This record gives sequence, structure tokens and C-alpha cells, in this order.
Amino acid sequence: MIIAIDGPAGVGKSTIAKALAQKLNFSYFDTGAMYRAATYAFIKNSIDYENETKVVDFLNNNFNYYFKEENGNRNYFVNDEDVTEIIRSTYVTDLVSKIATKEYIRKILVPLQRQYAENRDVVTEGRDIGSVVFPNADVKIYLTAKASVRAERRFQDYLDKYPQDFASFDKQQILLDIQKRDEMDSTRKFSPLKKTPDAFLIDTSNLDVNGVVNKIVKIVKKKTKIKFSYRFVKKFFLFFLKFFYKLEIFGKENIIEGKSIIISNHVSFLDPIILTQVFDEELNFIAKKSIFKKFFLGKIIKILNAHEISLNSPNIKTFRIIDSILKANKKIILFPEGQRSEDGQILKFLPGIGFLVNLTKALVIPVYIKGPLEIWSKKRKLPKMFGKIKCFIGKPVYFTEFEGIDKEKKVEYINAFLEKNLKDLQKKHY
Ligand code: C5P
Repeated sequence: MIIAIDGPAGVGKSTIAKALAQKLNFSYFDTGAMYRAATYAFIKNSIDYENETKVVDFLNNNFNYYFKEENGNRNYFVNDEDVTEIIRSTYVTDLVSKIATKEYIRKILVPLQRQYAENRDVVTEGRDIGSVVFPNADVKIYLTAKASVRAERRFQDYLDKYPQDFASFDKQQILLDIQKRDEMDSTRKFSPLKKTPDAFLIDTSNLDVNGVVNKIVKIVKKKTKIKFSYRFVKKFFLFFLKFFYKLEIFGKENIIEGKSIIISNHVSFLDPIILTQVFDEELNFIAKKSIFKKFFLGKIIKILNAHEISLNSPNIKTFRIIDSILKANKKIILFPEGQRSEDGQILKFLPGIGFLVNLTKALVIPVYIKGPLEIWSKKRKLPKMFGKIKCFIGKPVYFTEFEGIDKEKKVEYINAFLEKNLKDLQKKHY
């Protein structure tokens, strides 16, 4: 899950993002520190930031930026030099906003920021997080506060950090610097600071850190809350599946929260309903057009987030839908056989599955469902009243598994690998 926090200088983004990350047990990522580190590196190595060729070459070849956590503190490094303190100095602060206006710099730093958040729950903050870096972030927050309040906070920060330099702090100058940075950050051509329409606006002028964090936690909880109708249908069927079919689930420890593709064998109309019981999170499905037309089933699968697409001929529309589900950090169920198997033998996977996994690089969780064939096979009009259903969740398959495979053969390889994986799971529990 990605929580994006944007806002102007001195609004409290870092403090709030850090506290929020701690509360939710997420990672914290401060993109401003990256722009500051690049600024420092340009100064130190006498790189003229207006010289695109030199800057691009330097960032690509000589800028090794990372951070380390020690005793609850985070230290920032550029080429193994600890720059934690120096990137907050006035000479870096004075220059950073100018440097951040350069498109050729942002083009290199933004992908690094995206890389950091991959497969992580993260609170990330900056100026363009919700608009450019993570336009699909699960929760977007835009913090604001009067410039005078922000200047006062900065002034207090300096006093706390460097009480001996009290005489050198000029409140008026701090205010002017903040206003200058606001102006530069919000009027620049590339990725200006702005609130996106889907971001929640929080004015922190009269709130303390805890007050803001609690507000965001409430927003996060509301956003991740499972739809009432979904929960209702899930509970309703849980009763039937437990009472009539003695549903049992094994391997829950293999479930990884957040975005993933779930692949499962398919023998009956019960399968999607069974799978909703396996995962605590709200799932998404894909279904053929014809199923949406069935009176009862059509309504049910709509509530269970079914999307009308087919794996038989994956096209750009199919990919877009699946990709947007995954980008929203959600799970999607695919039945890679593309149809219900009549005898329970797992059929050859459709090529679409390898194609989708290759494009989305998503984590795959295999699930083998045992039992519905005897209850409601393709040949039966209505299900049997009683039976036994067991679900086995296999070990997750990470995309790194396929990284070394030749490009030309990758899709085919992924398909064969996942098909074998599900068949092995079936063999183990047959
Ligand atoms: O947040 P912080 O004050 O450390 O950021 C330093 C500067 O980096 C900002 O004033 C802004 O110019 C730039 N920045 C940016 N985009 C981000 C984060 C920071 O342009 N996502």
C-alpha cells in the first residue's frame, strides 16, 4: 500500500510521515532528501546543474544514494559519505528548489523513488508524489498550513537543534525563504507542487502531529474497509460453505498481503465464492460476459468485484484492468484454464496468464480447491446438498524467479512454470 503525502515546505510532512509510518508499521520514504542529496553531490563535485549532459552522466554513473537505519535513526549516504546533516544545511536548502525544477534531474530521480516503493507498504512524502510519482497511490494526502505558521515551526526546529546559534536565526528571513520555495515549487513547469483532485486536504495550522496522524489513520481505515455488500455476500456464503460443505482452508501462512495475482483450478461456479473465504482482503475476479447475464450469479459476481474480460485473447483492455487492480495494491483471481474442467484434471493454461504475469511482474499465489467437482460439476444443473471442500494455498511465486529467463521464452516459461506449480499442489493434496 502506498500513502502519498504532499505539501509545501515546513508543513510538517516529514514528522507526520515518519509518525504515521511508525503507527502503521510501514516504511517511510522522504523524497526531498533525495533532491537534497543530489544538490549536495553537485556542489561537492562542482557539477554545473544547468549542464544537462554532465548532470545526467553524473547521476547515472556516480550518484549512489541510499540510507541506513540505526538505533531508530535514519542516516543518508551519497557514495558512502554520511550526508544526513549537511543536506539540511542552508546552502543546500537555498539551491535544492532550483535543482528540482530541472526535468532531466526529475526523470532520473523519480524512477528511483518508484523502485523503492515496489512491493512495500510505504508512506512517502514530497511535492509531486500523488500527481507524478505515484498517481495510483492508495491514499493521497495534501498537507497545508499558513506560511507564517510554517515559518514559526521551522524557527522552533532550528532553536531545538542548534540552541547555541540562537542569535543567527531570523524569523522574517525564514518566512521569506519558505515563501520563495513555495513559489518555485508550485510554479515550476515540471511536476509542480499541487493538490490532485483525489487527495485529502488537511490544514495543519491548528493541529499537532498526533492530531494530523490520527486524521490520516482514519482516512486509511475508511479507504481499506471492505465494501458492505461484499462483506455481506461473503458472510452469507460462509455459512453455506461451512454448514453444507465443511469448508477447510490450509496454508494461510503463504498469503502475502497486498497486490498479487491468485491462480486457481476451476471446476465449478462455487470456486469464486470459495476463494473469497480464503482471503481476508477484498478480491477481484474476471468473468466472461455470459456469466454476467445469469440472473442470480450475475448479481453476485458483480458484488464480488468481477470484471468483464477474457483470458482467451488478452488485449490492452484486459491488461489495463488487471494492471489498475494491481496498482491499487489489490488482489485479482485468475482461472488460467479459462474454463471449468469437467473431470478435475487441471487443463493447459491459456497463454494470457504468462503474458500478464510478465507485464505486471506481480507476485502469484496458487490455490488448489478440492471438492466442488463432486458437488457442482459442469454436468450438474444444481449443486448437491452436502459435500466436503478443502482449499490449499501454495507458496507464493515471486517474479524474481523469472528474471534470468531469456526474453523470447519468458512468457512461455512462466506459463509452464505456473501450470506445473498448480498441478504439483493438486498432486500433493489429491
Ligand atoms: O521536503 P524538503 O524540504 O526536504 O524538499 C527539498 C526540496 O526538494 C523542495 O523544496 C522541493 O523543491 C524539492 N522536492 C521536489 N519534489 C519532491 C520532494 C522535494 O521537487 N517530491
